[in-house]
Amino acid sequence: MPSEVAAKSFEPAPSPAAPHHIRLTSHTGGHGAIPIHWAAATATERGPVVGTTTKRSHRNVIGTHSGSYSIYRALAVASGALKASHKADLTNTAPTNVIGPYPQWSEPGRIVAMDPWGATVADVFANELAAGYDIRPTIAVTQAHVILPEVIEALQSGRLKADGRFLTAGGAAMVTKVAVEPVWFLPEVAKRFGCTEADLRRVLFEETGGMYPELVTRSDLEVFLPPIGGLTAYIFGNPRDLANPDIELTARVHDECNGSDVFGSDICTCRPYLTHAIEECIQGAQRGGVGLVSYFRKEGRALGEVTKFLVYNARKRQIGGDTADQYFARTECVAGVQDMRFQELMPDVLNWLGIRKIHRLVSMSNMKYDAITRAGIEVVQRINIPEGLIPADAQVEMDAKMAAGYFTPGAVPDAAELKKAKGRGLDA
Ligand SMILES: [Zn+2]
Repeated sequence: MPSEVAAKSFEPAPSPAAPHHIRLTSHTGGHGAIPIHWAAATATERGPVVGTTTKRSHRNVIGTHSGSYSIYRALAVASGALKASHKADLTNTAPTNVIGPYPQWSEPGRIVAMDPWGATVADVFANELAAGYDIRPTIAVTQAHVILPEVIEALQSGRLKADGRFLTAGGAAMVTKVAVEPVWFLPEVAKRFGCTEADLRRVLFEETGGMYPELVTRSDLEVFLPPIGGLTAYIFGNPRDLANPDIELTARVHDECNGSDVFGSDICTCRPYLTHAIEECIQGAQRGGVGLVSYFRKEGRALGEVTKFLVYNARKRQIGGDTADQYFARTECVAGVQDMRFQELMPDVLNWLGIRKIHRLVSMSNMKYDAITRAGIEVVQRINIPEGLIPADAQVEMDAKMAAGYFTPGAVPDAAELKKAKGRGLDA
């Protein structure tokens, strides 16, 4: 098959940024692609992930880098702002902290949704880079001070103490933060979801409107860079301590909720739980432990914010008002499912960080707990959100979740309790 197809007559006038032809990636491009041996013991044996769009004979994956931002990259190229051939200059971009390698990196099936070597490509694939392969980091590790009003309030009220090491007198928490882009090894991702690889490939192809033809034409390419959001891990204390089961680990795995996390919307407990977890993490680090908040871009139970707001309206307008007994049903009416977060891939980052034991899991979610323990990580204690941090309008969500099996050390609301309207009306 020809690797390049002539442009059709409807193509607009060529711009310097756009090539005059469409480059199909659905056929093998000849020589030069380095094979990937997923979960191999060393980076050299594993081989680099090459998602470049310029030298297609080097590609050994389906999709391109940057997750959902690959589309913005395309816009930058289309508008002429970015040269498609731009290669990242990785000078001084190396991780601030060494993470791994850990035994989990090469244990079969442990890590299937990220590239364990993604932070250190400039180092471990220096030879391949020198040979002209365009290899990009899919993980970046840096350090930061995070300043949150809730932490300052905790400091002022005496719940937290400044030590100049983990927490400054001004209320800034010192963290190592790690950004991770998704890299999926399709055979094992399919296993996690209990389907065949062929079915996973076909459905991914169909449900993205045919966006990645190689999903169905290139069964030899087993790694997919999906156009979705990734995650950020915030580490309080020494990142190396995460892998030591004898050091107390306080951890929360948090799914994005822009409305609450950023804008303080009071219909759910997301931000109060997140900031409570950060407070717990700082206290844990100060006790000689280490803390971790892993933040996943899975807005609105991965249904997206439009669906989420539609559900809010449906909940608040239903006859009888916003009640816990209808909480999941209203989501299901709009979205078809209660939840699309599927925690199956979530524990990968924990395994990547070398974690074997979480002493204090700051989460009430049974789905997260089950996924973590299924991934071979021990959970000693689960920490629920303190009553006083639950906004009034979020009591509906809290009651519904506890009735559905979320962890609580207190009483589970009964049927009569669940029928009480507790959410505010839309005009209130
Ligand atoms: Zn929320």
